[in-house]
Amino acid sequence: MAQTYTHFIGGKHVAGTSKRFADVFQPMDGTIRAQVALANGADVAAAVENAKAAQPGWAATNPQRRARVMMNFVGLLNKHMNELADLLAREHGKTVPDAKGDIQRGLEVVEFAIGIPHMLKGEYTDSAGPGIDIYSMRQPLGVVAGITPFNFPAMIPMWKFAPAIACGNAFILKPSERDPGVPMRLAELMIEAGLPAGILNVVNGDKEAVDALLDHPDIKAIGFVGSTPIAEYIYGRGCTNGKRVQCFGGAKNHMIIMPDADMDQTVNALMGAGYGSAGERCMAISVAVPVGEDTANELMRRLIPRVEAAKIGPSTDPTADFGPLVTKAALERVRGYVEIGVKEGATLAVDGRGFKMQGYENGYYMGGCLFDHVTTDMRIYKEEIFGPVLSVVRAKNYEEGLRLANDHEYGNGVSIFTRDGDAARDFASKVEVGMVGINVPIPVPMAFHSFGGWKRSSFGDHGMHGREGVHFYTKLKTMTSRWPSGIKDGASFGMPVMH
Ligand code: NAD
Repeated sequence: MAQTYTHFIGGKHVAGTSKRFADVFQPMDGTIRAQVALANGADVAAAVENAKAAQPGWAATNPQRRARVMMNFVGLLNKHMNELADLLAREHGKTVPDAKGDIQRGLEVVEFAIGIPHMLKGEYTDSAGPGIDIYSMRQPLGVVAGITPFNFPAMIPMWKFAPAIACGNAFILKPSERDPGVPMRLAELMIEAGLPAGILNVVNGDKEAVDALLDHPDIKAIGFVGSTPIAEYIYGRGCTNGKRVQCFGGAKNHMIIMPDADMDQTVNALMGAGYGSAGERCMAISVAVPVGEDTANELMRRLIPRVEAAKIGPSTDPTADFGPLVTKAALERVRGYVEIGVKEGATLAVDGRGFKMQGYENGYYMGGCLFDHVTTDMRIYKEEIFGPVLSVVRAKNYEEGLRLANDHEYGNGVSIFTRDGDAARDFASKVEVGMVGINVPIPVPMAFHSFGGWKRSSFGDHGMHGREGVHFYTKLKTMTSRWPSGIKDGASFGMPVMH
């Protein structure tokens, strides 16, 4: 009998009232692992009610005590690392070592949240006017929510809830319905770490639950990560309802390869960034842009055998380079894109569509695919594929490479490989993309900096984690105070000025 994931509300597992469920699959062999409850409006309302009741007490708890809960949670994440990584790999499809990376990058944001007493310190100006001091504080918003994608079921929930909770908010997480097991475990571990019940709630579900969150008047802010059409929808509806909203969407990340780049380093970087996690990363490189025909020819000469030799395996094989895709539908969609690319006239230099994993015939596997001579009018260039498919677009010169990245509708990540400091500096300054790698293929900033794309990869203000994350989950309040001792001024009807 498959397990059932319900909801986690007020520190307890709660069945919910919707009677709707979805299957959770194990991508490595196509079996059904679990059922997940899909919340309705009443289930969401119950979570909000619990969160609202618990939040004032948590906000009044001094920040170093809140930080201690985060410290305990880091200890528990390390203690349960193997169990969490195994569960994550089984529900998502990525390999166990890659799943550990997913957890680790989330854990680092929890470590950042331990510094919350420092991050919440306000500013102070002594004697801004006669007997007048000005100071500021950052206060929590109240109840906030996060809606997260399937591809990082540990990291992205932690990027959202750790800073939000450390700031004194109560949080409602609506994780992806495709791999809810790890988010549920994280909520249990937060309680074990000492978090009061009701401060972190998990509501499982689909559009119905999301819409209920978007329309609930007691939810003050929504943080979303997922595909661009849904990001745009959530941003629009959330803002119309008067909430603070940040939505991070899809991507098409370019890597510009200059003629002077170290080719060994470049090819290794492209393999990991293009095919790691079966290409299911929003910071994956999906477009390689070699500059000049010689660079392109050399790149293809080295890349083709590497893509052909990539080791694909079940999630439990620690020696595999990458595992299966997340669902059968995802596999069919990615295969469909390869078909489109062939019809559009791109050269399919490596065709991984026929790959079969022996002993795991019902898993959602495909081999790496590599397209050459891709042009900007093709759908495989314009759209996000989100699979192990890399497109090579040949550029005549550096300016054309830069223009490609700038003209694309997405602006999440980009990278340049070169030995030329001038070119790298010019690129960093002129490229219209939020996160830039210089000889670094996946430039996801560390926890104490902030993550965020540009253009149609992101809607709303503020990045995730770092100082920006703290600002997103707090309101700024500024006090102008005077303690008059002997100052006796009459009524003044002009705009107050401090001379
Ligand atoms: P998705 O947009 O399908 O789902 C994301 C979340 O939205 C899930 O919780 C899902 O339940 C919910 N959702 C789905 N359809 C909805 C609807 N019609 N109305 C309301 N809510 C809905 O994304 P996904 O397939 O889970 O994740 C992959 C996508 O996420 C890719 O596009 C990837 O680039 C993107 N992503 C972006 C970032 C980033 O930081 N920019 C990070 C990770 C993933």
